[in-house]
Amino acid sequence: MIVAMQEGAEEALIQQVIDHLVRMGFEVHRSTGARMTVLGAVGSGIEFDIRNLELLPGVQEVHRISSPYKLAGRSFRPEGTIVRLPNNIAVGGNEIIVMAGPCSVESREQILSTAESVAKAGAKVLRGGAFKPRSSPYSFQGHGEEALKLLREAGEKYKLLVISEVMEISQIPLMLPYVDILQVGARNMQNFNLLRELGKIRKPVLLKRGIAATLEELLLSAEYIMAGGNYEVILCERGIRTFETYTRNTMDISAIPIIHKLSHLPMTADPSHGTGRRDKVAPMARASIAAGADALLIEVHCNPDKALSDGAQSLFPEQFAKLMDELRIIAPAVGRTI
Ligand code: PEP
Ligand code: MN
Repeated sequence: MIVAMQEGAEEALIQQVIDHLVRMGFEVHRSTGARMTVLGAVGSGIEFDIRNLELLPGVQEVHRISSPYKLAGRSFRPEGTIVRLPNNIAVGGNEIIVMAGPCSVESREQILSTAESVAKAGAKVLRGGAFKPRSSPYSFQGHGEEALKLLREAGEKYKLLVISEVMEISQIPLMLPYVDILQVGARNMQNFNLLRELGKIRKPVLLKRGIAATLEELLLSAEYIMAGGNYEVILCERGIRTFETYTRNTMDISAIPIIHKLSHLPMTADPSHGTGRRDKVAPMARASIAAGADALLIEVHCNPDKALSDGAQSLFPEQFAKLMDELRIIAPAVGRTI
């Protein structure tokens, strides 16, 4: 940690801060320049709020250098994490994994038809919501367990793994027999009780970035799951809320290389929620692969105009197939396969 003292801070104040840091267990390295003094504090493992140091008389600013997420941080596994799934599928390896399907599972015909087209185009995982977090309580809320059964049936028929969103703790045991990956949605990224429970299971969790969450907050949420012993965490950028209103969210492509630098966990991009508009999904998917995404999560619907949720951002099956062809050209340019 670096503690910069105010310009011209008196020696007595500097000494007070040094004593304070030593009491906290730090070894203090002092650097005195012509105008100001900077203290380098090394070593204490204890948890503390840096604002308490910023409040000490004579202190200008305080910067933490070591990361607050020990398990999710890159140094925990410098070589990177590969999340292994059934059917020899791995997220975080050389192959980019595409997860695709409707926002919600609506009917058997809908999920079977969509599964068939995404499988044919090269997706490896079928997505589909059974429990839907909707902004309005009057919007379609999902078909629950019935939807999970249909999702599994469609996955088995077309040799696709399945992913679906878990919204609360009580749904975990219900979902485990049906899904290969549990998705934590943007609205639940900081539902710490849910994250802790997901730390107790041994199945991969795809954790989406909250709509107003910093990347540090995303990694701290991953830390909650990992602290329970479940290291199979896949992160996901799905757009954040900004002042821009043209798109539903602003797709933060820079989150991909930033997460790869800060963390060893694989990173997914969801350009469907990231833009909220069908015509912007393919460009952002292409950009995400170019930026190094390990996986994509894309909404595809056999009849988007009739979708019960997120139709406007869902690709038609033909659009998805065309996008996959484009991605097969881009992936090798960044040393990946798809
Ligand atoms: C979804 O994947 O359909 C979804 C609700 O995503 P998010 O949590 O990113 O809004
Ligand atoms: Mn959706």
